[in-house]
Amino acid sequence: MECVICGMEVESIEDAIDQGWVPYFFDGQIESGPACSGCSEALLKIDGDGEMELKEQYQGKINYKENFSHNASEKRIMIGISIENTMQRILN
Ligand SMILES: [Zn+2]
Repeated sequence: MECVICGMEVESIEDAIDQGWVPYFFDGQIESGPACSGCSEALLKIDGDGEMELKEQYQGKINYKENFSHNASEKRIMIGISIENTMQRILN
């Protein structure tokens, strides 16, 4: 998979999870993703609903590398694991 923001690639979902990738995020109302850990740390924040979203100053300004198009099951797995990781990060 490939980071839609910077184009960095990882071999597998497992690698992405290990490296703290974000499976999806919102650019305003538009859902996009995935984003690598570097981009998500720099550009994303967690909104009031616990969803990752682009910081206001970046909304509408990102030139995405590819459209958001994962198969649904892959996406759901990523989201589940990512939420777990996010929760752990908050708790730690
Ligand atoms: Zn990136």
